Amino acid sequence: MNFEELGLSAPILEAIKDCGYDTPTPIQEKAIPHILMARDVVGLAQTGTGKTAGFTLPMIEILAGGRAKARMPRSLILSPTRELAAQIAENFDTYGKNSKLTKALLVGGSSMAEQIKILDRGADVLIATPGRLIDLFERGKILLNDIKILVIDEADRMLDMGFIPDIEKICSHLPPIRQTLLFSATMAPEIKKLTEKFLINPREVAVSPPASTAVTVQQFRVNVSPKGKNAVLEKIIKQEKVKTAFIFCNRKRDVDSLSKWLQGRGHDARPLHGDMAQVSRTKTLEEFKAGKIPLLVCSDVAARGIDVASVSHVFNYDVPGAPDDYVHRVGRTGRAGETGRAWMLVTKYDDKQLNAVIKRIGKEIEVVDMGGERSEPRTTSKDGAGKDGSGSKERSKPQSKPRVSASKPAHSAPKSPNVPQKKAPRTHDTSNDRADSAGFGDDVPDFFK
Ligand code: AMP
Repeated sequence: MNFEELGLSAPILEAIKDCGYDTPTPIQEKAIPHILMARDVVGLAQTGTGKTAGFTLPMIEILAGGRAKARMPRSLILSPTRELAAQIAENFDTYGKNSKLTKALLVGGSSMAEQIKILDRGADVLIATPGRLIDLFERGKILLNDIKILVIDEADRMLDMGFIPDIEKICSHLPPIRQTLLFSATMAPEIKKLTEKFLINPREVAVSPPASTAVTVQQFRVNVSPKGKNAVLEKIIKQEKVKTAFIFCNRKRDVDSLSKWLQGRGHDARPLHGDMAQVSRTKTLEEFKAGKIPLLVCSDVAARGIDVASVSHVFNYDVPGAPDDYVHRVGRTGRAGETGRAWMLVTKYDDKQLNAVIKRIGKEIEVVDMGGERSEPRTTSKDGAGKDGSGSKERSKPQSKPRVSASKPAHSAPKSPNVPQKKAPRTHDTSNDRADSAGFGDDVPDFFK
């Protein structure tokens, strides 16, 4: 199938051609015709599948005929994070460049006065995070009773971040007769309930999620002591031919301290997390996308949905607390047919999380000995860590010289009498830090404050 067959008009087809897209992706092929027929749609698709164009292209087509009125937008796209909202806005500009449609990006951390000015001039499309939208609505700066199309993007992420009550509140202010599109990587019971409540006889379209990490990414893990992490990370960075890399930490304070430490060692590293002012978050991300910063030390705020081309490496400074986050982190490299390498530092306190990751990706991760701390072998996990035996099927030679012991098991739970078993350090922090690792910025739900 090609784009012409989907029923899109010439100006949009022209814009698609300028993007260099030859054929629609599966989610575009499945969703666009239903959206153009004004149906409600539930799209089961992750980022990286082309879902943004899947809803943006038909929206532009549908809205092209009408006119924006001051403070009365005609469509609303809800996004869980500011970065993702900004990316959708960029996509909207790209695909809508031959239309006269206007947009307003309404996210926290940016000037509300500027956003109000844009709303006053009239915007066809609002692209918003729930917190800022509700804030503007409650101040009487937007009227939502002319919304004809609502898109709820990354609904599962909204759920993780506690935004479902906000979504319900927003929906209650929208006209009941409208078109609603909901995209989610998974269909948790809460998301299902949301679709039953707010969508009318929706068409379900699904594309198979990446069950695992891409084959274009070679994955390694290194056993380290908590205190030896920085040194081992630097050793790997020096050995690998790093072009651009994400270095993921679970905690914001580690993002800051690690990037400072790397800078002190002469590396061009920058931090990115939700406590930073929006202007520097945006600038850092833009510079990283442009290849001007080689090392981006970040929380998971950057892992979801953010599309950066040609990232050569992903480093997991910490084992992520949620195995899905590992898949998302690693998925930042090896995109668009390129190859990538992902490394993870594992301490003996990370056994549970490591097993969960291995279970999630369905294979072992090659162990590379970088001279870090070893500990007793991990007992083969009931959860599937050693499901496929030693799990060393996907072995490949690292670029550098490290000693590879692929079948070597992960760490066991702490056995040393010096290490209090009950007091293992948190690997996924609570409080504000955790809020950031979900990418809240200042759209942090109340229960995390
Ligand atoms: P998304 O899942 O919306 O974040 O899109 C992931 C990437 O796929 C983005 O870089 C898009 O520019 C790209 N993309 C979207 N649709 C197509 C297409 N039909 N052909 C090639 N690339 C596409």
